[in-house]
Amino acid sequence: MTIFHKFGHIAAARRTLAEKGIDSIHVVMEEIISPTAARVNGTPTILAGSNNYLGLTFNPECIAAACKALQDEGTGTTGSRIANGTFAGHVALEKELADFFERRSAIVFSTGYVANLGMLSSLAGSGEVILLDADCHASIYDGCRLSGAEIIRFRHNDVLDLEKRLRRLGKRAGCTVIVVEGIYSMLGDRAPLADIVALKREYGAYLMVDEAHSLGVLGERGRGLAEEAGVEDGVDFIVGTFSKSLGAIGGYCVSDHPELDLIRYASRPYIFTASPSPSVVASTRTALEIMRTRPELRRRLWENARRLYQRLHALGFSLGPEPSPIIAVRLADQDQALALWSGLLEHGVYVNLVLPPATPDGGCLLRCSVSAGHSPQQVEQIGEAFASLRGVVRPAQEA
Ligand code: PMP
Repeated sequence: MTIFHKFGHIAAARRTLAEKGIDSIHVVMEEIISPTAARVNGTPTILAGSNNYLGLTFNPECIAAACKALQDEGTGTTGSRIANGTFAGHVALEKELADFFERRSAIVFSTGYVANLGMLSSLAGSGEVILLDADCHASIYDGCRLSGAEIIRFRHNDVLDLEKRLRRLGKRAGCTVIVVEGIYSMLGDRAPLADIVALKREYGAYLMVDEAHSLGVLGERGRGLAEEAGVEDGVDFIVGTFSKSLGAIGGYCVSDHPELDLIRYASRPYIFTASPSPSVVASTRTALEIMRTRPELRRRLWENARRLYQRLHALGFSLGPEPSPIIAVRLADQDQALALWSGLLEHGVYVNLVLPPATPDGGCLLRCSVSAGHSPQQVEQIGEAFASLRGVVRPAQEA
């Protein structure tokens, strides 16, 4: 036995896929043509699997701001925020985020993953409890592990199950952090946030919402599900990422709790990693401003999302429960998912192939991510590609 024996099952799964000529993990975008198109295997391909919700990755203002920051401040900070890595841009971005969310303060992290790690590992500790929705993202699970708190899962979007678990905690509910997402990354469904806020108030717990997929997507001002549901007051901590609607990389938390600032001194994922580079901070600040001032991007995103959802629904595919920029197509088994995924790629459409254990219910799915940057013709082409492959797959509902 060697230390590598534990990778045996991964190697076997990869061999099976390789025999079928499929390597979904190593699809190379050989040339990026636009926010929604790339050359893949030599073929122009529509990108329908990235989270470029507002299509801002090629925005000229964002690019100009990033270039200027590169010229003025260099390629990287080469340090953590606590040591030598706080630049004026970080402080300005934190102020702009706090203003955007109308919150007391904000903290910027190096990625969205690190934001969850950094917040959860320091918010809850030994003897305290994190109550999380079972479908939460891996970064939330990893943050929970790092915290040393007791981790309790409740059934996905099941408010009764959440209440049962809060009730069982008794007095400990007051030292409990409930964690949910705005839009869930796999099926594109939303948390029943108003009910969750009511429960957190009743039991005196804290609530953290990961709005990674809902920033710029939901709410009149694009502040996410908490804004759309009218319950921002009831959410203690909102975390999110710059890697989706804002087209860059990085993460954040905003809150009205004055103690948020103390997290900087307690959070190892904040302290022990380099801070975001100046160009990333500059393009993020510009994208935030564009997101704030151009609500038509959000409208276009939703037009595209609804159009594609309706088209796939009309074709008889089994989809996630509600239209959203994440459109999950559930399939009967792995062979069906692989056949549809590679068929779509041959038709010039790239979507995400998601197989267990990454899927919520152990099923197989293809995940489409819609963008405001998709033209009506591209949405039509994506629909056509699915239509032409409809005959070769049985959706999960028929399995
Ligand atoms: N939270 C959720 C819900 C996510 O889906 C993701 C990424 N897919 C993250 C956090 C991590 O964000 P990032 O990629 O910016 O690290």
